[in-house]
Amino acid sequence: MDLISSIPKVDKLLAAPVCQQLLAEYPRPVVVAAVRKQMEELRSVARAGSLTAADLEPDAVGAGIERNLAAGELSSLRRVVNGTGVVLHTNLGRSSLAPRLHKHLADIAFGYSTLEYDVATGERGSRYEHVEQLICRLTGAEAALVVNNNAAAVLLVLSAIAAGREVVVSRGELVEIGGSFRIPDVMMQGGALLKEVGTTNRTHAKDYRDAITDQTAMLLKVHCSNFAVVGFTAGVTVAELAALGRECGVPVVADIGSGNLMDWQGMPGMTEPRVQEYLAAGADLVTFSGDKLMGGPQAGIIAGRAEVVNPLKKHPLLRALRVDKLTLAALEGTLRLYRDERLAWAEIPTLRLLRLTAAELKKKGQQVVRRLRRQLPASLVIELIPGVSQVGGGALPLTELPTWLTAIRSDVCSARELEAGLRRQTVPVIGRIARGDFLLDLRTVADDDWPAVVEGLRALSADSGEQ
Ligand SMILES: *Cc1c(COP(=O)(O)O)cnc(C)c1O
Repeated sequence: MDLISSIPKVDKLLAAPVCQQLLAEYPRPVVVAAVRKQMEELRSVARAGSLTAADLEPDAVGAGIERNLAAGELSSLRRVVNGTGVVLHTNLGRSSLAPRLHKHLADIAFGYSTLEYDVATGERGSRYEHVEQLICRLTGAEAALVVNNNAAAVLLVLSAIAAGREVVVSRGELVEIGGSFRIPDVMMQGGALLKEVGTTNRTHAKDYRDAITDQTAMLLKVHCSNFAVVGFTAGVTVAELAALGRECGVPVVADIGSGNLMDWQGMPGMTEPRVQEYLAAGADLVTFSGDKLMGGPQAGIIAGRAEVVNPLKKHPLLRALRVDKLTLAALEGTLRLYRDERLAWAEIPTLRLLRLTAAELKKKGQQVVRRLRRQLPASLVIELIPGVSQVGGGALPLTELPTWLTAIRSDVCSARELEAGLRRQTVPVIGRIARGDFLLDLRTVADDDWPAVVEGLRALSADSGEQ
């Protein structure tokens, strides 16, 4: 009880040398909050009956205040090391942008720009024009438009083209993408009436034909993204659907999800058709994400025939779904890299990571493991083992990319402790556990991520050693 009463008061703590030093560096409210937090912690330890005189030594209290302050100063949104091997990890931000866009993004972020200004005429310009020509050139579309994400693109297209009328979709394509994006729900939000055709596993051209009436606003094809139907299946190709649409005067729209622009040249599992193939097959309009296989910023891209795309540019909903200047800067920069395929493969991280071969990863892994063994305490056992990475982001769910992993085991803490400890570092390191090992996939851990891994593992080994 006397220990509780000897916990110093806020004013007294603020006058202590540690706090005086912190006050010179940080705003007063920030220091006061860190002091209050430390007092609360001490009181709760005291209530649990485990407060000792050592806890109240000025050095111990000061260290606690500094720790609280450091924790409070960390941004909530911050860099992490992705050791999961899931390249398009939606929870970890999907695609990383090409490093060479750095300067351009900073210029646009920290200054004024031509966002909606036409320097040639001195008049108002359109934010949508910065990327339209690039998208058209790369995909063969006549017109294009960019919104906040692919979910927004689908919503806009349905609202503008199909509100109050019917949209014909195969039953096997009524997908939930994750979060709360479900095709039937988006359809309802867009005011369109869903007309399901076919069955879960088989849909035929005749099913679509029979469903078309004078109330039909569009034939919609939705990419299955995060699942696959195997076995006794049948679907209708975009080309067949396009022929039917033309015959009946109904536009054919495809939500193609991941928006692949590249030819993966027979790389096993990378079987995703390209955006340009959907359009060449006759789709009137496609929508896709900017941050999945395209490897750009979060965005929803709408591309297709001018007659179908252009009216969307005047829809009132567009203002609510519009992209900001940073997205546009990142998107234009990414799309420009695609003008030269070699440059795209080399510079766009998503493409580069997906294309890394097992042999390349093994070679990199051998170097990494050698270095880790040198830099880390002997209580850590580090091995290189084969495994599989995933594409992620709801793209190519069955594709297994052969990879190599560092498997880490500690004499002093369990794999669960390693996993939890590393994820709580200043730069969180996210990995997984299998058969008692903590695993980091070499595909997604960048070269300059390893120092954060080393720092984390050292800190954990030291903490555990003390106990
Ligand atoms: C991922 C995906 C979406 C959602 O795209 P976001 O860009 O995440 O909004 C919609 N439809 C399909 C088919 C998808 O794969």
